[in-house]
Amino acid sequence: MKKRSWAEPYKIKMVEPLRMLSKKEREKAMADAGYNTFLLRSEDVYIDLLTDSGTSAMSDRQWAGMMLGDEAYAGSRNFYHLEKTVQDIYGYKHLVPTHQGRAAEHMISRILIKPGDYIPGNMYFTTTKLHQELAGAKFVDVIVDEAHDPNSEYPFKGDIDLNKLQALIDKVGADKIPYVAMATTVNMAGGQPISLKNLKAVRELTKKYGIDIVHDMTRVAENAYMIQQKEEGYQDKTVAEIVKEINSLTDHATMSAKKDALVNIGGFLATNDPRVFEEARNMVVVYEGLHTYGGLAGRDMEAMAIGIKESVMDEHQKARVGQVQYLGDLLIKSGVPVVKPIGTHGVFLDAKAFYPHLSQDEFPAQTLAAELYIDSGVRAMERGVVSAGRNKETGQHNYPKLELVRLTIPRRVYTQAHMDVVAESVIDVFENAKNARGLKMIYEPKYLRFFQARFEKL
Ligand SMILES: *Cc1c(COP(=O)(O)O)cnc(C)c1O
Repeated sequence: MKKRSWAEPYKIKMVEPLRMLSKKEREKAMADAGYNTFLLRSEDVYIDLLTDSGTSAMSDRQWAGMMLGDEAYAGSRNFYHLEKTVQDIYGYKHLVPTHQGRAAEHMISRILIKPGDYIPGNMYFTTTKLHQELAGAKFVDVIVDEAHDPNSEYPFKGDIDLNKLQALIDKVGADKIPYVAMATTVNMAGGQPISLKNLKAVRELTKKYGIDIVHDMTRVAENAYMIQQKEEGYQDKTVAEIVKEINSLTDHATMSAKKDALVNIGGFLATNDPRVFEEARNMVVVYEGLHTYGGLAGRDMEAMAIGIKESVMDEHQKARVGQVQYLGDLLIKSGVPVVKPIGTHGVFLDAKAFYPHLSQDEFPAQTLAAELYIDSGVRAMERGVVSAGRNKETGQHNYPKLELVRLTIPRRVYTQAHMDVVAESVIDVFENAKNARGLKMIYEPKYLRFFQARFEKL
C-alpha cells in the first residue's frame, strides 16, 4: 500500500494569538528571569513546552459541557456523569473526585500506609513519593535497569523488575508492603510505557502475597497506545480496550486529569475496594470538599468526563503521541542527542552531549534551556543538576547521571509547523553549541531550587 500522509483529527475553531519578541527582547527577558525558564512571563514565550500538565486544549464538546455545570453543593448531575464515565471507560467501581492528582495521592497514602512500610514502584514521581514518605513509608525503586540508561532502546522502560520486587518481599516481608505503586507511563524516565506482559506478571506475584497495586493512571491512554504500537498481540485492540485491560489488573488508581484527560484542572481517586472507598469519602470532606465534588466545580467534572472519553480514541492518541514522535524523529535525523526511545509526552535533550566542554558545575541543561529561549522563544525545562538539588549531609550538589532538557508537548495546542520551528531552533543551538558559556548560580532557594534559582552568564 502506498504511504499516505495524515493530519490532526480536528479543525481549529478558536485561536489564541502568540507574541513574538525580537532576539534583543528575548535576551533581555532571559537575563531578567535570571536564566531560569520558570521565571519567564508566559506572555514573553512563543512556543511553551514547559509542561503538558493542565496546558491542553479542550474540545468544543468540553467547552459546551462547561455550560452544563450543575453547581449544586451536593449530588451534582456532573458528578454522576463523571462517576459513570470512570466506571464505563476505566472500569473502576468507586470514584472520589479531587482538585488534582496529588490530593488523591495524599488520601491513598494515608489510608493504606502504616509507618515503617515499604512502597516499591516503577521509578518515583515527586509528589507521589513525598506523600508516601509523609505517611511513614520508604519508597524503593524496582523499575528495570534499562530505565536509567538513556542509550537503551528497550521499548518498555516502564516495566517492573520482578527480581527486584521479589528481593524486597523476601527482605522486609509482604506484610510491610501494602501496595506496589505502578505508573502508566513513567514520567521521570522520559514518558516510557509499561507492557501488559510485565503488568500481568506483577499482578500474579502481588496476588500470591496479598499485596495491592495502586495505579498512577495519569497517562494510561498514552501508555495503551504504545502497547498497541509495540507489544505483540495488541495490534488489533483499541486504545480503549487496552486501557480497560491495564486497569483491570490493579486495585486502586490516582489520576491527574490535567494530563491524559484533557482538562486544565481536576483529578480523582478510584478504587474497587469498598472499605478504601468508605475511608476516602470520609477523608475528602476534610481536605477537598463534599464527596460529590472534591474541590471541583460541577463544570470541571463535566469537562473531565467528556475529556476522558476523548482521550481513549485511537485517532486522538495517534495524533498526540505521533506529534511527540514527529519532533523526536526530526531531531534524531539531524544527529541531535536525545533520550531514546522517544516517550509519549515529551522529548528529552541530552545537555551533556550538547556541551562536552561544560562541567556540571556550569549547569549545562540550565544553559541549554536558556539558549533555546534566546534563539527562538521556545520555553523548555531543566532536568539536571539544578533540579537534583543538594545532598543533605555534605551540602554538595547532587550530580545526576542525566543532564536533560525536557521539551514537553501540550495536547492539541500546537501544529506540525510549530514542531518544525522547535526542531530548527534546537538544531541551530546544537550547531552553535561550542560557543556556549555556562552559568553561575547567584540565588539559591532552600526548597525545590529549580523553580526560583537565578543565574548569571559566565
Ligand atoms: C502530574 C503528575 C502527578 C501529580 O498530579 P497533579 O495533578 O500535578 O497534582 C502524579 N503523577 C504523575 C506521573 C504526574 O505526571
